[in-house]
Amino acid sequence: MTPTHQERIALNLAEIRQRMAAAAARSGRSAESVSLVAVTKYVELDKIRALVAAGVTLLGESRPQQLWQRAELLADLPVRWHLIGHLQRNKVRRTLDLVDMIHSVDTLELLQAANRIAEEMAAAATGTRPRVRVLLEVNTSGEAAKHGFDPQTLPAVIDQLPKMPQVEVRGLMCMAGLEGGPQRARGDFLALRELRDRLAARLPDGVLLSELSMGMSGDYEVAIEEGATLVRIGSALFEGTDA
Ligand SMILES: *Cc1c(COP(=O)(O)O)cnc(C)c1O
Repeated sequence: MTPTHQERIALNLAEIRQRMAAAAARSGRSAESVSLVAVTKYVELDKIRALVAAGVTLLGESRPQQLWQRAELLADLPVRWHLIGHLQRNKVRRTLDLVDMIHSVDTLELLQAANRIAEEMAAAATGTRPRVRVLLEVNTSGEAAKHGFDPQTLPAVIDQLPKMPQVEVRGLMCMAGLEGGPQRARGDFLALRELRDRLAARLPDGVLLSELSMGMSGDYEVAIEEGATLVRIGSALFEGTDA
């Protein structure tokens, strides 16, 4: 990587932060109410280091194995990791050890597995382990190829949460439909926020769905206008660096 690439990444980051703050202001919120999850799946380690040098502290990977490798190779960096892609049950244990949050819990079975494994880990550990922080991925676009809960099934899932004390469900996540651009995406984001608001009326004690993970490079400003608290941005951060 060249010094120009390093500079370019810092400039991209500054512009994205500015756009995020402006979108937050348009929705009557502070810039601090929205966090950037920098998605690093497309780039090599040197560009991730450049991003962290420029001030990013929260990194996201969509594939568990790549997250494991990178968390190890970059263990010297002051960052937290979020898993944003599909997680198979046989990869839960290793992943729980490394991540701060899983955005992509998409079945009741996975939620139950995370609870059980976290319980085993808590029993084996000395001291108190933090609970597992997760978001429930919702298929708001209805596209068959997408992972995520059918919105109609969520009330029943929420009702099960008191039986899973080791998982802390912090909110909802969605991916916008592939077709239709930012305006179609706005409909998906609005649907996720409205779903959250409807569920809020029936949450068990101690559950707050305060996080909404929605918005990527092409539609994060719209997502923030519709209430996103976490945006997952990859390619826009690395524009101009042949990523
Ligand atoms: C790759 C990915 C992103 C980032 O996509 P960009 O369009 O490059 O910003 C966000 N969320 C998920 C789940 C992803 O897999």
